[in-house]
Amino acid sequence: MLILTCPVCGVTSEETEFHAGGEAHLTRVGPAGDEEAFGDYLFTRENPRGVHFERWRHVYGCGKWFHAARCTTTLEVFGTYSAQTTEPPQAIRDRISQKRPGWIWRDFA
Ligand SMILES: [Zn+2]
Repeated sequence: MLILTCPVCGVTSEETEFHAGGEAHLTRVGPAGDEEAFGDYLFTRENPRGVHFERWRHVYGCGKWFHAARCTTTLEVFGTYSAQTTEPPQAIRDRISQKRPGWIWRDFA
């Protein structure tokens, strides 16, 4: 079972109280972007086995969006943080590096 903590209101609950919103840290393609870049923005997603960054919404709570860093194989949650960021906080990246030696943050932008 996946247990998440909403960083906005502080409630910790199982995933049924939340709704997954797909991959986090996507960079929007503006009007000057070409069709290939726009297609990638719409349809191309990471699907890693291991560390993944996702958007979640606290639908049965405060209703706010946030980001979660978790492992897709073990469901271990490394941390949740504000959706108003362009990359995971350093503390969460450090926590992942401690638990997954060799892992490094890759900026997908
Ligand atoms: Zn909340």
